[in-house]
Parts: sequence; structure tokens; C-alpha cells
Amino acid sequence: MSIAFIDLQAQRRRLGGKIEAAVMAAVESGAWVMGPPVRQFEDELAAFGQAKHALGCANGTDALVLPLMAWGLRTGDAVFVPSFTFTATAEVVPWLGCTPIFVDVDPKTYNMDPQKLEAAIEAVKAEGRLRPRVVIAVDLFGQPADYPVIRAICDRHDMKLISDSAQGFGCTLNGVHPLKWADITTTSFFPAKPLGCYGDGGAVLTDDADLAEEMDSLRVHGKVVAKDMQGRSFDHDPKYLAMRIGMNSRLDTLQAAILIEKLKVFPEEIEWRNRIAARYNEHLAPHVAAVPHVIKGGVSVWAQYTIEHDDRAGLIDHLKAEGVPTAVYYPVPMHMQPAYQRFPQGAGGLPVTERLKDRVLSLPMHADLDEATQDRVIAAVASYKG
Ligand SMILES: *Cc1c(COP(=O)(O)O)cnc(C)c1O
Repeated sequence: MSIAFIDLQAQRRRLGGKIEAAVMAAVESGAWVMGPPVRQFEDELAAFGQAKHALGCANGTDALVLPLMAWGLRTGDAVFVPSFTFTATAEVVPWLGCTPIFVDVDPKTYNMDPQKLEAAIEAVKAEGRLRPRVVIAVDLFGQPADYPVIRAICDRHDMKLISDSAQGFGCTLNGVHPLKWADITTTSFFPAKPLGCYGDGGAVLTDDADLAEEMDSLRVHGKVVAKDMQGRSFDHDPKYLAMRIGMNSRLDTLQAAILIEKLKVFPEEIEWRNRIAARYNEHLAPHVAAVPHVIKGGVSVWAQYTIEHDDRAGLIDHLKAEGVPTAVYYPVPMHMQPAYQRFPQGAGGLPVTERLKDRVLSLPMHADLDEATQDRVIAAVASYKG
């Protein structure tokens, strides 16, 4: 039996009947866009994520641009992002004419290094060309960024904080979700993410009622929302009044129906993922240069299980021969990507990111990884004598 890197079919078999019933009910209802399951899922997502408001949207990339649009970001604004992340984190910034500034990461957690963030913000301020407005911290591979420290930096510089939790949604720090510190948490329901649907989907979570209302309008072409109606009368259906320049970014009813079922088992799956990760840590530590290090007080949702190795290429070949699939996240950090090289880097460059890109390797990880299969992965890593 070949080993899957992420076995989504195993989860499908486990939840099968329930998801099929939910899908058929959504199809038969005919309410295919913004049907009742969307609102139900948003309410349940907000409860799970300890947030006052949750809104679905089309994907995790739109989830990142929605708050930037709502805050009115424009040319001349600087947004601080890690370089060691998936493209989407920085991609939305130039969409609005703003400038991403790439910040290095912590060598152990791989998340944004707060000290380097502050140095980057101060350098931008000293130069005086761009206005520091927003920090996007990424919960890379599933674990929370160092939010208490990053929040304090944002407060000092009067900046907004987004937690890009596409990989980390469900993670906690000292028992609470990143939203305790961030102005907004964004996530993706791309199938391979810890909480995934059967296609594209995303969501934003916030305690800020005004921000939620702005984003609710923006995701549906800038439609009229309650605050726009105050003190006005309409001689036509206000539904067709565009109050702001928005977009079309809705979560499909079908995907919401699927996610309602998946959210029910998500807390248990997070426990399974943590048990699997602990087992990997215990057995792999003697054989690799580094096993994952989770921030003190943090609980990861383990979007990836990522090790470091001095001879990564040799280990990849060996594992391939043993039937063990692997992946490298990320071989080319954002600041080295052709489309992003022209954007500024934080003071001191990105030496940690540039070192990690040659050393990291992700192993099979998903909630349904059974011990026998995991033992094969462990044995294959342990048998490499490169
Ligand atoms: C997957 C991902 C996104 C984007 O999500 P999509 O739903 O694919 O648009 C954003 N940020 C990070 C860190 C991601 O891993």
C-alpha cells in the first residue's frame, strides 16, 4: 500500500454518509448561493473560534484582502509579512497598490520574529517613504505566532494585526485563539488545510462589529448593509445600491453544508493530530537535525509536520524509494520569488528564512494517519544512513 501525504479519502470514508446527506439536502434546497447552511456554519465557526463575528468567503486569499480593503489601504501603505509562507499572504498587498515588507522568522518556530518585525517597522518609519499600517502574522504549519509580543509592537506603532490562520485555524496560545490578540483571523478551507471543504472556501473572524459589516458588504459587490440604511429612505430595492467598490467572494452553500459536518469532528481531529505529532517527535528526534518546536503555551493543529535535515536531498530520495511521500514548504521564499523580489526586506535581510528553505522537509500528516502507517514513515527516516 502506498502511503498518502494527506489522506483526504480516509476522512471521507469516516464521515461519508453524513456529508453525502448534507450535500444532497443543500442541492435539493435550491438555495445554492448564501443558503441557510452558510449562516449556520458562520455562527458555529464564530462559536468555535471564540469570535463575535464570522463571515464565509470564497477562499483564504480573499479572506486576507477583505480586511485590507475594509481598512482602506492604498498606495504608500506598508504591510509587514513573513517571507517564509505561501504566496497568498503577500499577494493581496500589491493588489491594493500597497508594499509588502518581508520579515525574517524565528529559527525554531518558523513564525515571524517579533524583534525583526519591530526593526523593520522602525526602518520604514525612519526612511519616511511608506506608512506602516498592517502586520500579517502567519500561523505557519499550524502553530500560533508570538501574538502577545506582536500585538504590543502593533499597539506601539498604531498598526492593525491580521492572523493568517489558513494553516493554523484552531490553534491556541495559552488556551485561546489568535483572535484574542489579532484584529482579525483569516482562514482557508482548501481541502488540504486542517479544516478543509471539497473545493475552495475561506472565512474571516473578528470581534469588531464595524469591520465585520464592512467586509459583509465588500464580499457582495459593496452591497448596502444596516449602517448604510440609517437615516435614509429608498424608493427602490436598496439591495442594488453599491455603497463601496467590492467583489464577489461568497462561501458556497454546498461547501458550508460540508463544513458544518467537518467542524463537528474538528476538535477531536486536532487531538489526533497532536497525538500523531508527539509520536513522530518521540521517534524521529534521534534521527533528524530538528523536530518541530511549538511555542511555549501553544497548541498546533499540525497542517504540516516539518523536520530539518542536513542532507535533505538524500533523505527525500531515500524516502521516495521506501514509498514515503514528502514535500518541501517552502523551497523558494517570497522575497526570492520572481514576482516579489522587487519589494523591500526588513533590516538585516532574511538569513533564517534562507537557511530553512534548504533544510525543511514535511512528512505525511493528517488526522487519519494510523500507527502502522506512521511506523513505516518513522522506520524509513531512521534507516537513512546518508
Ligand atoms: C493556503 C494559504 C492561504 C490561501 O488560501 P486559499 O484558500 O488557497 O486562497 C493563505 N495563507 C496561507 C499561509 C496559506 O497556507
